[in-house]
Amino acid sequence: MSSVKEKTFRKLKRKRIWPSIVVFVVFVVSCILAVTVFLQFIALYIMGTKVVHHYEETQRVSDALDQLMAGGRTFSEAVNEMQQYIADGRDLYVLDQNQNMVFRTGDSEPDFEMMLEFQVGREFVAVADNKSSFTREQGLGTVLNVPVEDVFGRVFESGEDGETLAQWLDETIICQAYWLQASLKDEAYDLYVKCDIQFKRQDIVYVCFFGVIALVFLLIPVILLFINTIRSIVTQQKMTQLFYLDAVTGGRNWLYFHTGAERVLTRLYSKKKAYAVVNLHLERYQNYCACYGVKAGEELLEAMDGFLRVRVVKDELYARHEGADFGMLLRCEGENEEERQENCRKRMRSLLAELTGLKPEKKIHFHAGITMIPPYVAEDDKWYRARKNVDINQLYTYANAARIATGYGEEQRVTFFDHEMLGRQLWERWVEDTMEAALRNEEFQVYLQPKYSPVNAKMVGAEALVRWVSPKEGLIAPCRFIPIFEETGFITRLDDYMISHVAKLQAEWTIQGKKMVPVSINVSRAHFAQEGLAEHICQLVDAYGPKHELIELEVTESAFFDDKDILVETVRQLRAYGFHVSMDDFGAGYSSLNSLKDIPIDVLKLDGEFFRGDDDDGRGQIVVKEAIQLARNLNMRVVAEGIEKKEQVDFLAGQGCDMIQGFYFAKPMPVAEFEEKVEKDA
Ligand code: C2E
Ligand code: MG
Ligand code: MG
Repeated sequence: MSSVKEKTFRKLKRKRIWPSIVVFVVFVVSCILAVTVFLQFIALYIMGTKVVHHYEETQRVSDALDQLMAGGRTFSEAVNEMQQYIADGRDLYVLDQNQNMVFRTGDSEPDFEMMLEFQVGREFVAVADNKSSFTREQGLGTVLNVPVEDVFGRVFESGEDGETLAQWLDETIICQAYWLQASLKDEAYDLYVKCDIQFKRQDIVYVCFFGVIALVFLLIPVILLFINTIRSIVTQQKMTQLFYLDAVTGGRNWLYFHTGAERVLTRLYSKKKAYAVVNLHLERYQNYCACYGVKAGEELLEAMDGFLRVRVVKDELYARHEGADFGMLLRCEGENEEERQENCRKRMRSLLAELTGLKPEKKIHFHAGITMIPPYVAEDDKWYRARKNVDINQLYTYANAARIATGYGEEQRVTFFDHEMLGRQLWERWVEDTMEAALRNEEFQVYLQPKYSPVNAKMVGAEALVRWVSPKEGLIAPCRFIPIFEETGFITRLDDYMISHVAKLQAEWTIQGKKMVPVSINVSRAHFAQEGLAEHICQLVDAYGPKHELIELEVTESAFFDDKDILVETVRQLRAYGFHVSMDDFGAGYSSLNSLKDIPIDVLKLDGEFFRGDDDDGRGQIVVKEAIQLARNLNMRVVAEGIEKKEQVDFLAGQGCDMIQGFYFAKPMPVAEFEEKVEKDA
């Protein structure tokens, strides 16, 4: 996957989930804070109203004292007159200017260590009672110095039988004494009045009630936001699944494999493990679809996906790549590379064997190409270094190349990628990239290999063989590029090129009045499948105008196994135009004598293989002798190829072989050299 695609995908994934989650969390936290602040505010408000009420009562005491003192009484006299009121239960505590107690009632007193100034509408000074239990740290705000469980326990205590709800609510559950400072006109004294702050059930119920209301109001948006967050997560998950879904198999797709495999391989814990990237290929899938329908084809791929799903283990992955190709990342156990390869081969073979059984009534076969990934050893041997820059697509391409390199066949094949293979691939790439330009620049040169009569050693013909003289690679032999040209179809253009060049040479030699021999040109088997080939060749030759009998066309024996009717027709037409036709490489492959019966050729070229190796028991000679006899009986001339020894020449001469082509007489040579040779030998 390209890095741009990958980045876009990751961004998309990240963007989707996080904003919703963050918004939800922020909202919930804000709600909790808001409810807490709100409840505190309510509690303080309730407490504040109680304190204000106490202050008013306190103020009445100080007002009475002020009035008594205004009437001309001393402070002691005024206080003594207040005894009646004080006897009602209000404890007083008075300090003079030097902070000495001058008057007190009751058995407790203010604890000036714990004094608090606070504001509820106006400023108050409150002092803790020395017999009460709250502490400075907790402050006056926690006059409710009772554990929360206790408060709630008391709030929800069921009332006595016969108690009304109003009575139940009015019941005091917490009562706490404290002293409030009252202001006297005579500033020489500080007056403190003892009050009891009481919390009733109804106060707690109010707080709870407002708390519930606040929660209900906030719960609705929280729930809505929660639903929205869950929905966006689910949507995100579905989207991810969709991103990773293969539309054909219903399993994981290449994106999943690609990202997953790179993740597995670059993890630290996987660096000591060996892996294999596999290209698993179902042969002739298109043919399967054409015969049984696309739906059946897709069902087969789906079944393959299901099969692989149960065969891969932890840290292994697979996915369909395209067509009927699957990529796999497999673990490989073993002490060394050979052992790992062998284990991997065994596992793949058994997988392939099982896969062929997926459709027992239909014949399907599979091939696999494998790229091994050895355990990783960092250059500096640091334990924390893992594999990096893993390019799964490249590794998969290698596996694919390995699979393709071994060609097509019925049996299940497992091939491992090696660097020789890569060299071949690079070479093929180079050939394909440069062949067009090479043809335009006339880098292909005609070499000629003479054919001699074994009887008088005179040159009686020649074969045109191509050589690629590349400015970069030098002289390139045909075996290095002809198979690539055949595969790409470029061979037909090369054949045309050779026919034209040979026709041109023959025409020039005719005009120059030089000695001449017929020259044969190889015509590829792919070319012979074309209709109208004879006419096409005729036009190429006639463009230069040499006599047709000076041109011979060689077709390999294997071409006779293609469309025989077209071949027979083309050969007939070529001969009708006056060209000679020969069967090249006879005996090199699976010979069919039948082909000799059906195809009216002029020359039979016995393949060099007949003359290679030892022939101690003379069986090879018997075959050659009979082949020559057969050709003569069918009115064909015989050329023996690849002749390197004098004994071979003598033997062939004795058997009536018409021509000999081989290194014994001459190797293929450039035109100029050939022109000299033909003057001497023809
Ligand atoms: P071929 O047509 O059978 O050509 C004969 C091959 O045998 C030539 O190889 C030639 O150099 C080689 N040869 C000849 N005498 C001897 C010998 O005594 N010993 C040995 N060891 N080899 C000998 P070359 O030139 O490498 O060509 C190989 C093949 O490439 C040809 O086999 C032909 O099939 C193909 N080819 C060459 N040029 C062309 C062309 O222009 N067009 C097409 N379509 N194919 C060509
Ligand atoms: Mg040939
Ligand atoms: Mg040959």
